[in-house]
Amino acid sequence: MNYKITVLPGDGIGPDIVSEALEVLKVIGKKYGHSFELTEADLGGIAIDKHGVPLPQSTIDACKSSDAVLLGAVGGPKWDTVPGNLRPEAGLLGIRAALGLYANLRPAIIYNALKDASPLKSDIISNGIDIMVIRELTGGIYFGKRGRLETDGVEAAYDTEMYNRTEIERIAKVGFDTAMKRGKRLMSVDKANVLESSRFWRQVVEEVAKEYPEVALSHMYVDNAAMQLVRNPAQFDVVLTSNIFGDILSDEASMITGSIGMLPSASLGATKLGLYEPIHGSAPDIAGQDKANPIATILSVAMMLRYSFDLPEEAGAIEKAVVSVLDNGYRTVDIASAGTTVVGTKEMGRVIREAI
Ligand code: ATP
Ligand code: MG
Repeated sequence: MNYKITVLPGDGIGPDIVSEALEVLKVIGKKYGHSFELTEADLGGIAIDKHGVPLPQSTIDACKSSDAVLLGAVGGPKWDTVPGNLRPEAGLLGIRAALGLYANLRPAIIYNALKDASPLKSDIISNGIDIMVIRELTGGIYFGKRGRLETDGVEAAYDTEMYNRTEIERIAKVGFDTAMKRGKRLMSVDKANVLESSRFWRQVVEEVAKEYPEVALSHMYVDNAAMQLVRNPAQFDVVLTSNIFGDILSDEASMITGSIGMLPSASLGATKLGLYEPIHGSAPDIAGQDKANPIATILSVAMMLRYSFDLPEEAGAIEKAVVSVLDNGYRTVDIASAGTTVVGTKEMGRVIREAI
């Protein structure tokens, strides 16, 4: 098959890590007989420099006419003085909205070889951690009605959380579909003991569950989930939650792994077109120095193969190669420890390709 990919290297270490990920994709194409047609476009600071805006129409058009989008990272001190709506980060929010990407998938994995990096005690993570957090990305309190007012002569402000049936049904389906591809367990996180929007969330998720009799669904309040992620993270497989709760819990889940340079993400919508990017930022302090860890971006390519192209075997080949390279002691500086072999961005990419 021929797959069209729009590549947005972005700023800082973006170009360094994206080029390694594309080399990995090339090797996968050769090994499994796929061709990947790449189109590069500008997003973020580089787009501000070249086009005067962080998200040019030409970039939106390129993304819309492709099967998937691979993004490096955007932003950096150079654009810190640019006004808010023209910031590099506004380009990122803009492209997610333009593509209607309402589901954000963030795996949090503690690799055996990197257990020491986790801030959690070794007995808590002894059997490894492999959690997928699914966050609703285009609704809820971040998009609800908000404002300032005065009540009884006192200044006040408000934000509102609202979810409609369609929004909950579609994100719940992503949750159940993901659970079907994994351990067939889904934990929906809400605050149904207090919030009406959460009670409705729980009701609709229960209804969608009827279409997935094989998946074991359970519910947890968000305050308890925040606690359980630290106390006993091994109990989680797929976690499904709203925009604001997912924002907080996905950061918490990624930090318990202790290695930000390792974690990929996928943003999905109604079609197979998804956007794939590492969860870390543009790390301007190490840009262009062959120091950045390319693994999060390489694993983002694996997610692309799995979710946009339905190529789980190819995705698995990349994931296995990463595990074997870590087991063989290769580390970039950010994940280095005593007795390991420290390599640069390019060498890390090369050993992963060799392992594939
Ligand atoms: P943002 O605001 O864009 O989310 P940030 O500025 O808060 O990001 P990052 O850009 O992710 O944070 O960088 C935080 C720290 O982690 C920096 O010191 C950076 O060098 C390091 N870092 C981030 N990504 C990587 C990576 N892939 N490899 C090595 N180090 C990284
Ligand atoms: Mg940054």
